[in-house]
Amino acid sequence: PRKRCGGFFGAGLAGNVMEMTIMTESKNPETLALHAGYRSDPATGAVAVPIYQTTSYQFNSPEHAANLFALKELGNIYTRIMNPTNVVLEQRIAALDGGAAALAVSSGQAASAIAIQNVAQVGDNVVSSTDLYGGTWNLFANTLKQQGIEVRFVDPADPEGFRSATDVKTRAYYAETLPNPKLTVFPIQEVADIGREFGIPLIMDNTAAPILCRPFDHGAAIIVYSTTKYIGGHGTSIGGLIVDGGNFDWEAHPDRQPLLNQPDPSYHGAVWAEAIKPLGPIAYIIKARVTLQRDLGAAVSPFNAFQTIQGLETLPLRIREHCRNADAVTEYLNRHDRVVKVIHPSLQGGEDRVRADKYLKGGYGGLVGLELKGGLEAGREFINALELFYHVANIGDARSLAIHPATTTHSQLTPEEQLATGVTDGYVRLSVGIEHIDDIIADLSQALDKAASASKITA
Ligand code: PLP
Repeated sequence: PRKRCGGFFGAGLAGNVMEMTIMTESKNPETLALHAGYRSDPATGAVAVPIYQTTSYQFNSPEHAANLFALKELGNIYTRIMNPTNVVLEQRIAALDGGAAALAVSSGQAASAIAIQNVAQVGDNVVSSTDLYGGTWNLFANTLKQQGIEVRFVDPADPEGFRSATDVKTRAYYAETLPNPKLTVFPIQEVADIGREFGIPLIMDNTAAPILCRPFDHGAAIIVYSTTKYIGGHGTSIGGLIVDGGNFDWEAHPDRQPLLNQPDPSYHGAVWAEAIKPLGPIAYIIKARVTLQRDLGAAVSPFNAFQTIQGLETLPLRIREHCRNADAVTEYLNRHDRVVKVIHPSLQGGEDRVRADKYLKGGYGGLVGLELKGGLEAGREFINALELFYHVANIGDARSLAIHPATTTHSQLTPEEQLATGVTDGYVRLSVGIEHIDDIIADLSQALDKAASASKITA
């Protein structure tokens, strides 16, 4: 059974400045999103989470300072490593996901990179699903490769592909819960189970399905988020989160996880899986914080963390509306005679649908893909004609958004790589917002008409 340890780097680190409660008694996301990790500021009584816009924290004495640096005592040192505003965000997401602890970082990209670098070093490899956000693909195929970490891509349709690609140097499995453009839900349990046989953690990017999917319930060990998307929800702040499920035994196969089980010269030879044990099952996230976050410095500003907390407070409500509107858009587009294909979990059959229904609860998410008659040209015209939808490289904003991935988010991939991730020439991605559904449909309708006349398509 999973042990919660929300206090460390929460109540512990911030205890001298904030009263922390994680409200473990409630399991309901609507309540946790508003209350987990914070009640009020003991200094002022402020109910909104204060923005602790400070770089540093006054030490009580030389001994206190030395103890903090030696991790003998827990408390705030420097905002690159921890900050009381950020701690609220970390505790809240850990509570929502049923995890043990979390680390807020400067972007979703930083979250993915650190999540891997925390377990893999030069000469190691990671097995990843092919169905990835284009930026993650680049990180894996190029940047991590240049750093000596090989990422082996496998088709997620067959979970056994992960087993086949595994060797003695495999340190992690990686996938997205609801990857776009394919929008086929990843077989979380199946792959997590294979990983646990070998001592390999499954890292899930749950950016597109927060609240709807709880990957720890299905055996994932680590979750990463781009909070830039649904969690922030208002398009104001780039940010990322890494959540530790506290449910993975890093010591079960010590040779498999050397970075957690061998002395770390960067911290006086600490063996993380051993040293952190008295604090709870949070060795992975503590190591990420006090080594990689310390050294690489991907800190999120407290102001951005505050904005993200504001978003998180209404996330369960917004997600419901995103799902409801996306269902209605799917139904509308599916009946439209100028649309060749609509991509949405509700239209899938077979194994894909079984997985969507198993792993997503409360809706199929806010993303919808479509292909128009007239391919690339019609797709471009359609995006150009949209008036309510914004044409942006983002998803998960409260506003409706659209983009043509082949020429934008996925343009740095080769044509073969684009196809492997599901991007075809005519594909348009919609991130359906929470405006009134009639206005969303009206905008799609007029844009489809304009695209049709521009590319002289007859229905
Ligand atoms: N993961 C997914 C699924 C994304 O869609 C994105 C961004 O588009 C990222 C990660 C990267 O996040 P960020 O842009 O916050 O670095």
